[in-house]
Amino acid sequence: MPITFNIRHLEEKSLSLEGELSCAELDLANVDELIHLSQPLSYELNVEKFERGILVQGKLRLPLECECARCLKPFPHLLTFDPWACHLALEGEEKIAIINDFVDLTPSIREDILLGFPNSRCVGPNARD
Ligand SMILES: [Zn+2]
Repeated sequence: MPITFNIRHLEEKSLSLEGELSCAELDLANVDELIHLSQPLSYELNVEKFERGILVQGKLRLPLECECARCLKPFPHLLTFDPWACHLALEGEEKIAIINDFVDLTPSIREDILLGFPNSRCVGPNARD
């Protein structure tokens, strides 16, 4: 399930979203050949209206399986964003897409995960530059 919420529900109160997003839905499998996703992203998010936008704050956690670019050794990397925050504009050029009152947070999360991908180098005694 993509991470979506109904913006009408935000009129009265903030929303809590919690769950997992499969790696297939994250669509990051072929972005970096040294980084493999085999487990889902887990998220705990709070969504509220904020001025003329929506503020999303919470935690993201995604275990990655990496291969070292230097020695080819596999090593795990836990990608965490705690806190993670994102502001979605409801007006202007940057405004988000709203489809049948639903907003999909998946693209914003995907983008930050991509930026947070580690350098594929294991941290070992010989890993210094
Ligand atoms: Zn290495």
